[in-house]
Amino acid sequence: MRATTLLNRVFKFTGATVTAVHHVGHGPITATVKLTARRKLSCPHCPFTTTAGYDTRWTESSWRHLDAAGTPVILKMLRRRLRCPAHGVLVQAVPFARPASRFTRDFEDMVAWLVTRTDKTSVSTFIRIAWRTVGAICARVVGDQLDETRFEGLVNLGVDGISWRKHHNYLTLVSDHETSTILWGGAGKNAATLDRFFIEIGPENTASIEAVSMDMGAAFSKSVRTNAPDAVICIDPFHVVQLGTNALEVVRRDQWQRARALPDQSFAKKYKGHRYALLKNPGTLTEKQSATLDHLREDGGTLWQGYLLKESLREIFAGDLSSAEVMAMIQDWCDAATTSGLGPFMKAGATLRGHINGIHAAVSRGLSNGKHEGLNNKIRTMTRRSYGFHSPEAALALIMLACGPVEVRIPYQK
Ligand SMILES: [Zn+2]
Repeated sequence: MRATTLLNRVFKFTGATVTAVHHVGHGPITATVKLTARRKLSCPHCPFTTTAGYDTRWTESSWRHLDAAGTPVILKMLRRRLRCPAHGVLVQAVPFARPASRFTRDFEDMVAWLVTRTDKTSVSTFIRIAWRTVGAICARVVGDQLDETRFEGLVNLGVDGISWRKHHNYLTLVSDHETSTILWGGAGKNAATLDRFFIEIGPENTASIEAVSMDMGAAFSKSVRTNAPDAVICIDPFHVVQLGTNALEVVRRDQWQRARALPDQSFAKKYKGHRYALLKNPGTLTEKQSATLDHLREDGGTLWQGYLLKESLREIFAGDLSSAEVMAMIQDWCDAATTSGLGPFMKAGATLRGHINGIHAAVSRGLSNGKHEGLNNKIRTMTRRSYGFHSPEAALALIMLACGPVEVRIPYQK
């Protein structure tokens, strides 16, 4: 069997065939391809086709394809230029690769599949391309798959800001409570960021939205009040619980700073070691952390008082209580916090009182980001993986690949 026949059988390209194969030394396998409908030139951005080339120039293009037994495979083809009435003068599209890509569709789909399942180093080592190139591939694959229909018939949404990189680089993510998927994301975390979401989905899709859950910051609620005035603003219980955790951390840090000023440094060391024992849920403590907590209980000081407040707030949402019971317990908690004498908790109590309507709205509708634990864990993993990317678009593309309404298949699954 000739090498070209073999490759044609193995590659199974639609609309293209291999005409020649070259392999020299330890280099890649180079396959020259031609399109089956050679006279028809297609625009890469729309269905426009023409038989008239823009000029007589031929451009040699190459694409990396799936490896053959560990050897990289490069496709080469001469391409012509065309003039699309809508998009101007462009190099013709090919059916086996996305526009402006140096990789074939199959190669990109494999990368996208891997990147949502395997860590950064494994992906880079296995496919032998730079991590930032992976970001561009993710963006192209997602762009191919997402369509506007995902914005139709939305009812309960969640919005959250996440940091995708060090030094305060944020993304705003909008999720659908119904499907536990991320629908939309944008760089930044202010009101203008979320405004862009409402502009993109348009007034018709906005009209069906009944509730949006969020944190207690001013930015997202401002955008929802402006763009979707009929939607109820809900304060996500996750952020309510976080308020208690953050207050406890301030109490602990205060004590640590004060202890650091003492001549005997052993007190400071003690407070530093308390951090994880205090902030973790009791069910996930190590033996050493449990012992630390036992000591704190025996001491019975400020830190223990703060710990009990933080835990009692968390437990309100951990059980299976009715919304009336939850709201009564939150009121009690606010009373306990504001009379605790602990500054950070007094502040937290006042903050919760100010958002009591939003908390009630979330509790009575059963809206909580905590319910989407699988989604939240996935976002966290993908965010860590996206730290090597250089643009928010690439980070977002990776999150959408893993958490969006996108189905990535490896080429052999098709
Ligand atoms: Zn066009």
